[in-house]
Amino acid sequence: MSWIRDVGTRVLDRYFDAPASDTHEALSRASIYVADRVSAGLTDVGTGLQAECERILPDGSQGRVGQFAIATRAPDLLRAAYSGLSLWLCGSVPARVCEGCGRVFAVKDPRQRFHDPRCAQRARYRRFADRKEAT
Ligand SMILES: [Zn+2]
Repeated sequence: MSWIRDVGTRVLDRYFDAPASDTHEALSRASIYVADRVSAGLTDVGTGLQAECERILPDGSQGRVGQFAIATRAPDLLRAAYSGLSLWLCGSVPARVCEGCGRVFAVKDPRQRFHDPRCAQRARYRRFADRKEAT
């Protein structure tokens, strides 16, 4: 493959110094190589938090108030391309801030508001306790 020729033998030796014992090991080494190369291209790419209400969605509507997404900030076009590649490789997993504890988590379901079921349960208990206290 041409991309292997472009990289140089010395760099590849670190990942492919001996023949892989099976397909899984070969794919593991290739995955680690891709992750390391893309990570190197992400130098100085920062992340920030973006309010969804700042965004205009493809249907022309405004994003939801009180919802947030992780946004990347690249200093130049090359690193913006690496940032886009990294998101594409990860399947563009959206992230959200947990309403229970403030932790940033990968969203698996668009309705998900908490990072895990225990955090959701603690939030339900707090709401229940607050309502009980108010009465
Ligand atoms: Zn949480």
